[in-house]
Amino acid sequence: MVDSYKHQGMRRQLVASLKEKGITDENVLLAMNKIPRHYFMDNAFLEFAYQDKAFPIAESQTISQPFTVAIQTQLLQVKPGEKVLEIGTGSGYQTSVLCEMGARVWTIERIKTLYDNAKNMFTKLHYKPKQFFGDGFEGLPKFAPFDKILVTAGAPHVPPKLLEQLDVGGIMVIPVGKSDVQTMKVIVRISESEYKEKKAGSFQFVPLLEAKKW
Ligand code: SAM
Repeated sequence: MVDSYKHQGMRRQLVASLKEKGITDENVLLAMNKIPRHYFMDNAFLEFAYQDKAFPIAESQTISQPFTVAIQTQLLQVKPGEKVLEIGTGSGYQTSVLCEMGARVWTIERIKTLYDNAKNMFTKLHYKPKQFFGDGFEGLPKFAPFDKILVTAGAPHVPPKLLEQLDVGGIMVIPVGKSDVQTMKVIVRISESEYKEKKAGSFQFVPLLEAKKW
């Protein structure tokens, strides 16, 4: 697969449109300008890679809409060297954005085909996230605490184990809701026992599935 001048031009336009829609974190914009989103898409959707839309990937899952990736990453306030836990590797695009921004990334996916496809993509792009095939509801207690936790599927509730694995001062960004539309929540752990939460709009994600439904 090549990253042609045409792709690069379309990507610049997409990033400019994200800026117009309110994305102000220059590091998010720089990362998204660098990463060839078309590499992460099914062949059938390649020509749409630089539209601001979610698209299907394998196993009835989706690569999130670029604006959603941008706003979730901006809300996370990612800084180089931080430990970030991502739930829902999917295509690996969001993981790549976090890696490109200099975060140390741990990412969990519950579908083996997607886990394998993403692994190949990370090798190709020279990113080195720590990848796990498993249940995001459990998080990764062995590697906790995390500075940031990003959930990229619609959660029916905030998983208590993820709250436990967030460091004091850390931020979790998670879409929460049982219907097709979820509320983006930004949760800050302000002490060992206290969390502060704010809402950041409505979004549509594929569901975060609990183990019994796999
Ligand atoms: N971050 C992805 C990207 O950039 O392509 C988009 C993720 S897609 C919207 C949501 C992903 O969450 C799917 O790949 C799905 O298989 C995964 N998922 C759903 N429930 C999960 C769970 N309990 N644990 C881990 N991954 C899960």
